[in-house]
Amino acid sequence: MVDNCLFCRIVAGEIPATVVHETQNTLAFRDIAPKAPVHVLVITKDHHADVAAVAAADPALAGEVLGSAAEVARAEGLGERGYRLMFNSGPDSGQEVAHVHAHVLGGRPLGPMLC
Ligand code: 5GP
Repeated sequence: MVDNCLFCRIVAGEIPATVVHETQNTLAFRDIAPKAPVHVLVITKDHHADVAAVAAADPALAGEVLGSAAEVARAEGLGERGYRLMFNSGPDSGQEVAHVHAHVLGGRPLGPMLC
């Protein structure tokens, strides 16, 4: 756990979150400010700053995040219509929380990716 990391504090139960899926190494919970009818964040329980960091440190864990994201999408009923899976990584992306998280977005047509 990293001091003052918001998502580490959610993993520790210090900050409440609406958890929708959990594995031994990952946690998925609803985004507090959803940008779509379904907006779930999938994180690693251990702290990694971003997707590049977890892919370098533990490729199997990076794969587990993808598997959890796919399971969340299936459980949220997005299998037929599809969904967007997105990682912000680093300052140019606008990443706000420096703890790796996949955004699972769906439930409406999302339109083209905007930069
Ligand atoms: P980023 O911009 O880092 O890719 O995304 C961070 C996401 O975390 C944002 O979509 C934001 O709404 C969400 N978020 C920020 N604080 C909280 C919180 O306390 N709880 C939850 N569930 N989501 C949060």
